[in-house]
Amino acid sequence: MFLTLPPELHLLIASDLSFPERAHLRLTCRYLHTLIAPMKHTELLAAENTDFAVARDLYACRYCLRLRHRDQFGDRMLRRRRGRRGRDAGRRFCVQCGLLPREGGEARYGPGAKVTLKGVAYVLCRECGGLRVARVLRGAVLEVCENCSGWMYEGSY
Ligand SMILES: [Zn+2]
Ligand SMILES: [Zn+2]
Repeated sequence: MFLTLPPELHLLIASDLSFPERAHLRLTCRYLHTLIAPMKHTELLAAENTDFAVARDLYACRYCLRLRHRDQFGDRMLRRRRGRRGRDAGRRFCVQCGLLPREGGEARYGPGAKVTLKGVAYVLCRECGGLRVARVLRGAVLEVCENCSGWMYEGSY
């Protein structure tokens, strides 16, 4: 049985596999998850160009070092130079990582930050702190969400 083999053999077998088989093997149990090293950023960037990743709309995030579905990224992270095979694909990060505070600093998406997800403008609201649908006023995205910007329209109807 596979799991009764010595760890050296597991590592040897894993090193022979490419993406996505190695990633799948790593996910089969806790032991293999610990034994087999996670993919490095450069490996993830190569993996995102495989047929497997293209067919599933997966992209690499530089901070959580995972392949994630395109829905987890702001639209700008998937376009042009940060798109697949783009020159700056290595600088792409997911929304979740963007919202996390940096080590000893602010989040990449700080208060008032605007993120477009699947064509919809969101804002990290300066009032309630949530990532909410933004209010767009004459083409400009406000730094507070629709809910929190409601008072601006009192009496205008
Ligand atoms: Zn991430
Ligand atoms: Zn708000």
